[in-house]
Amino acid sequence: MSENNHTSWMGGRIRMDEVTKYMDQGRDFIDDARIQAQINAAPKEPSAAQVRDILAKSWAIKDLTPDEVAVLINVNDPGLLEEMRAMALKIKLKIYDNRIVTFAPFYLGNYCVNKCAYCGFNQDNATAKRNVLDPEQIRREVEVLTGTIGHKRLIAVYGEHPQNDVDYVVESLKAIYSVRVKTRHGHGAIRRVNVNAPPFSIDDLKKINEAGIGTYQVFQETYHKETYAKMHPKETIKGNYDWRLYCMHRAMEAGIDDVGIGALFGLYDWRFELMALIYHTQELEKRMGVGAHTISFPRLVPALNSMITPDWPYLVNDADFKKIMMIIRLAAPYTGMIITAREKAEIRNEAVLMGVTQMDASSRISIGGYSDCVTEQDEVKQQFILGDTRSLDQLIRDLAQMGFITSFCTAGYRCGRTGKCIMDLLRSGAEGKFCKLNAVLTFQEWLDDFASEDTRKLAMPLIEREVAEIKDKNPGALAIFLEYHDRIKKGERDLYL
Ligand code: SAM
Ligand code: SF4
Repeated sequence: MSENNHTSWMGGRIRMDEVTKYMDQGRDFIDDARIQAQINAAPKEPSAAQVRDILAKSWAIKDLTPDEVAVLINVNDPGLLEEMRAMALKIKLKIYDNRIVTFAPFYLGNYCVNKCAYCGFNQDNATAKRNVLDPEQIRREVEVLTGTIGHKRLIAVYGEHPQNDVDYVVESLKAIYSVRVKTRHGHGAIRRVNVNAPPFSIDDLKKINEAGIGTYQVFQETYHKETYAKMHPKETIKGNYDWRLYCMHRAMEAGIDDVGIGALFGLYDWRFELMALIYHTQELEKRMGVGAHTISFPRLVPALNSMITPDWPYLVNDADFKKIMMIIRLAAPYTGMIITAREKAEIRNEAVLMGVTQMDASSRISIGGYSDCVTEQDEVKQQFILGDTRSLDQLIRDLAQMGFITSFCTAGYRCGRTGKCIMDLLRSGAEGKFCKLNAVLTFQEWLDDFASEDTRKLAMPLIEREVAEIKDKNPGALAIFLEYHDRIKKGERDLYL
C-alpha cells in the first residue's frame, strides 16, 4: 500500500458518529474529577464493620458501587485484607467452582500504525521484527497449539495496520478454525477464538462476529485522560480516547455478546484505573444490557524501547496488584478474570486463590513463535517479555496440586449461553452445573491426549473426586455425563452439554 493510501486508510477508520451516539450530552462515562473525589472521600482506615458489610454484599452476588470500591481500596489492615482475599475465593468457588479455564495467546500480525509509549510493536520501533502470518503459517502454528500442546481456546492478537485489517482478521479466524489434528487417542481443533484487536466500526465488528468469535477484547490501557494523551500521540488512531472507550458499545450493537475490558496497570494510579474499570462494566450493563464478560488487568512489563523506565511513579507493586485482583472479584462477582503469563508463576499461583478464572500457558508471543520452537525470549520479536514460561502440562500439574481442575470447555458460546444469558446463569449459580460437567469432560480429553505421566497421576484422583461430586450434587445429569465420559475415554472427542 502506498503512503497516500495508507494515510487515507487511517483517516477513514474513526467514525465519530459511532462514538457520540452513546454519549450523554457530549460527555463520556469516565468523569476523572468525580473518580478522584470518590477516592479522596473514602475513609483512610475503613473499620472492620464497614468492610464486612461490603463483603456481605459481594457474597450476595451484588455489584459494588464505586464508593464501596473506594473503601476497599483503602484497606491496609492485614487481617481485613485476608478476609477480603478469603471472600474473593469463596465467591469464585460459588460461581465458577474449582476450575480454571486455559487458553493460549496467538499473535498473528504485529505491524502497527500506533505509537503506544509502552509497547514493543510501536510503529517507531525500527528494530522490531514485523510479520503477518499467511494461511499456511497459521496452519503450522495451530498444528502445534492443538496437536502438540493441546489447546482448545486461543486469544488471537493483532496490531492496527492495513495488513491486519478486518478482512485479514476474518480470514485468519477461518484459517484457525479449519485446522484439525490427530492426537494420541483422538483429534484436536481450536474450538473458541477470542480476539484482542484494535477498536473497529460497527460494520467491521459484524463481519468479525459472523466469523464466529468468543470474546472481543480491547483494553483502554489507561482511563485517565491526561495520561492517555501522553501515552498515545494525538495524530495516531489510538490517540482518540473515546473511539476506544466506546468500542464495546459498538461490539454489542454489532451482535457480539461477550466483551472483555481491561486496563494496563502501571501507566497511572492503580486506584483510579480500578474505579474506572468498575464504571466501565456497569455502564455496559446499564446501556447495553450486560456487563463485561471478562476483565483483564495486565501489569506493565519491560518492552523494546519502552518510554516507561524503572523509576516511573505508577508501577504497581505485588501487594497492590493482589489487592486489585481481590477487589475486581468482590466488585464484579460474576465476571471472568484473566491473568496472563506477563506475571511470574508465584503471583499467578496466588491469583488462583483470589478469584481469577482464566490463565494462559505454554505461551509464545512472537509472530510464528509456536512452530519456531524457540524457547528463549527475544525482545526484538516479542511485544514484551514473559514472566511465566511454564508449559501447559506444568501449569495443570501445579493447579492440580492446589485442588483445581483445568477446563478446556468451549460449550457456552456454541450452545448460545453467551451475553446476558450466561451472566444471569452465573449470577444464579446455575451455570456452574453445566460448566463443571464440561470441565471434567474436556479435562479428561486433555489428560488422555497430552498429559505427562506425572501430571496424569496427580490429576486422575481429582477427576474421580469430581465424578463422585456430580453423582452427589447433580444426579439429574449423571446418566448423560457418564455416557459422554465413557465415550471420551474410548477416543471420541468434543462432546459437550
Ligand atoms: N493492538 C491492539 C491494541 O492495542 O488494542 C491489540 C493488541 S496489543 C498487542 C494487546 C495489549 O497488550 C494492549 O492492549 C496492552 O494492554 C498490552 N501491552 C502492550 N504493551 C505492554 C507491555 N509493555 N506490558 C504489558 N502489556 C502490554
Ligand atoms: Fe500497536 Fe497495540 Fe502495541 Fe499500541 S499496544 S503499539 S496499538 S500493538
